[in-house]
Amino acid sequence: MADAPVQYVLPLASVALADVPRVGGKNASLGELLAHLAQSGVRVAGGFATDVAAYWAFVAANDLRAVIDGAIDDYLAVRVPLDQAGKRIREAFLAGTLPAAVADAILAAYRALGSPAVAVRSSATAEDLPEASFAGQQETFLNVRGEHALLDACRACFASLYTDRAIAYRESNGIDQRRVALSVGVQPMVRSDRGGAGVMFSVDTETGFPRMVVISANFGLGETVVQGSVDPDEYRVFKPLLDNAQLKPIIERKLGRKEQKLVYAAVGTGTSLLPTSARQQRTFVLTDDEALELARWAVAIERHYGKPMDMEWAKDGRTGKLYVLQARPETVQARRESAQLMTYKLRNAGAKLLTGAAIGEAIAAGPVCLLHSAADIARFVPGSVLVTPITDPDWVPIMKQAAAVVTDHGGRTSHAAIVSRELGLPAIVGTGSATTALRDGQAITVCCAEGDTGVVYDGRADFTVENLDTASIPATRTHVLLNVGNPAAALRWWRLPADGVGLARIEFIISNDIKAHPLALLRPEAVASRRDRAAIGRLTRGWPSPQEYFVTKLASGIARIAAAHYPRPVIVRTSDFKTNEYARLLGGAAFEPHEENPMLGWRGASRYYTDYREGFALECQALARVRDVMGFTNVIVMIPFCRTPAEADAVLAVMAEHGLKRGERGLEVYVMCEIPSNVVLAEQFAARFDGFSIGSNDLTQLVLGVDRDSAQLKSLFDERNEAVTRLIASVIETAHKAGRKVSLCGQAPSDRPDFVEFLVGAGIDSVSVTADSFVRVKNNVAAAERGRGV
Ligand code: PEP
Ligand code: MG
Repeated sequence: MADAPVQYVLPLASVALADVPRVGGKNASLGELLAHLAQSGVRVAGGFATDVAAYWAFVAANDLRAVIDGAIDDYLAVRVPLDQAGKRIREAFLAGTLPAAVADAILAAYRALGSPAVAVRSSATAEDLPEASFAGQQETFLNVRGEHALLDACRACFASLYTDRAIAYRESNGIDQRRVALSVGVQPMVRSDRGGAGVMFSVDTETGFPRMVVISANFGLGETVVQGSVDPDEYRVFKPLLDNAQLKPIIERKLGRKEQKLVYAAVGTGTSLLPTSARQQRTFVLTDDEALELARWAVAIERHYGKPMDMEWAKDGRTGKLYVLQARPETVQARRESAQLMTYKLRNAGAKLLTGAAIGEAIAAGPVCLLHSAADIARFVPGSVLVTPITDPDWVPIMKQAAAVVTDHGGRTSHAAIVSRELGLPAIVGTGSATTALRDGQAITVCCAEGDTGVVYDGRADFTVENLDTASIPATRTHVLLNVGNPAAALRWWRLPADGVGLARIEFIISNDIKAHPLALLRPEAVASRRDRAAIGRLTRGWPSPQEYFVTKLASGIARIAAAHYPRPVIVRTSDFKTNEYARLLGGAAFEPHEENPMLGWRGASRYYTDYREGFALECQALARVRDVMGFTNVIVMIPFCRTPAEADAVLAVMAEHGLKRGERGLEVYVMCEIPSNVVLAEQFAARFDGFSIGSNDLTQLVLGVDRDSAQLKSLFDERNEAVTRLIASVIETAHKAGRKVSLCGQAPSDRPDFVEFLVGAGIDSVSVTADSFVRVKNNVAAAERGRGV
């Protein structure tokens, strides 16, 4: 009997994940999506793939086996350098001819598609594995038109199995160079040249937080985002609330600079890079609804695969339709021990030189090695910090030897960012000016341990690394919550078994992310300094209004903190700057009186119903948006420094005017217990609020009459003083009688184990502490509970 004819080409819709050995990881995954995710509404471009039999037929027909073996042997025996070995193989491939049966099968399938412009992509049999992404190791050819160009592109894809970077990458991952084969995927182009495209991950790429989709987007074809040659728009969407069609759980939309876009070449095949118009740079690529649709697809795809995914998507500008172009397992967070929490802490750092997007959470120091192009990689000094204009997979061979990476351009989803994560290297991408601001040989520290923003410091800083094992933290009946300041760092701590957030101070979000005084944003004309007015103009450029800038930024910051702990409670405290601190915000001086004693001055609740009323209204709008539009109903609002029950009534009335009515849609409002009057009149406060959080910093200051900031009186400032502990015990008792919860969010439990013991004994419901002391406090609480036989 004659052998069945070899099948060189397969429709993508007919392949599945099990076909990786025949069509490579990328094509198998596309087939899988086409077959299984259509019912979830996920749109995938169709097309066909070549079977690896086509590759092997090509290799055999052109005697390429011997060329590959010879070149790889020479390279491994260090007889020839990588670039020469790679070139020898690729040239032999490009000089080869496709066997007629292979070419005929490809062209027949192409005609069956209607001979459109196509994307021709490489899909290697050793790519998209769970432990190695192979990001960008082989070639893709876009906007390929006509039969001739298609066959050329297929051959060039075969040859790209032996790019220098692919050889290096396989070597470092221990993959047999000679057994890998390549399948070619051919798909009609999605007209993203008229629309946009990008990348998305179904987890937070830096922290591994599993409940977030991160989407990057640029106008034009997606390669600019993939290669990291632009700073893309970025969206963060919270997965658990996506099912509710009434909500818009978009935590953040960040407008990228999007300097360039890739479009079809004016004539013939191929693509060309154009500057993006100023208008496009100011415009988001995706609407909110489109970002939500993509995020829902990411969730469906992740669910189907049962693991976090890394995906490429495109939007066809003619039809407005979205497509998924590729899906592969995310590689970094997937490998991480889920119970381990490595924490880097910076000790003494030099001057801040540059900032950009932080990749990973590590810190590294070393001398700068400044390289302008991949052609210079032989100059790289192992152990130094690679500084380049752009991240690109060509750098992989030397990235393995780098201490860290810093680039001018690129976003957090670029290929080299992905590779940096895989290698565990801290990288800061998109600094704008690393290659001009840093000198070759200069010692620097690359710090990615401060949240989303990576910072380059001058000199070698001291830093520590701690490995926390979250599995060994004891359970406690008394809840232990977190005090969270910087929203950018909030996601870092999601692995801690915290019972929620006991104190998120809005003033941190204002000073870190917003920078301007709320009233200066509402009335910039009242700001006397022309420089400050110009700075406010720059901050708010591109926003519908300065108020919208404030509300959106504040809502994003709060939402991030709320997301990290959803559905556990997150207590967000409205602003409690002192007047001198408010005055230091951009444009703030015009709106703040000079006070001799700001600690006892116009602060907290007293501001909200008086001259700061409009600023407070913006805070309320942000909180209402987080709860009602995004859906974070776990957010509890807390009022600081509330001197009298009458003040409480006034503030609650203003809140209700601005969409925050206590008791409506489950809204709980807490009050800080930090003034002796809060304890003395606890019954009256309990009638107005849902709970108390004891501010032991201010309470101790006001009970003992000791300025909390005085170095001279430091030894007198002690929360364990009986005058303080009696008040605390008293408020707990009164509050419990009234059915109210009591927490404590001052500094004391973080520093003093015997204070924790006292609080547990007094029956406190929860304590809230900074993340760095969480494990210690949890152990102390457990010990105190054991001591009391709980
Ligand atoms: C306190 O007073 O204890 C408190 C937690 O608030 P802050 O430190 O912000 O004044
Ligand atoms: Mg306080």
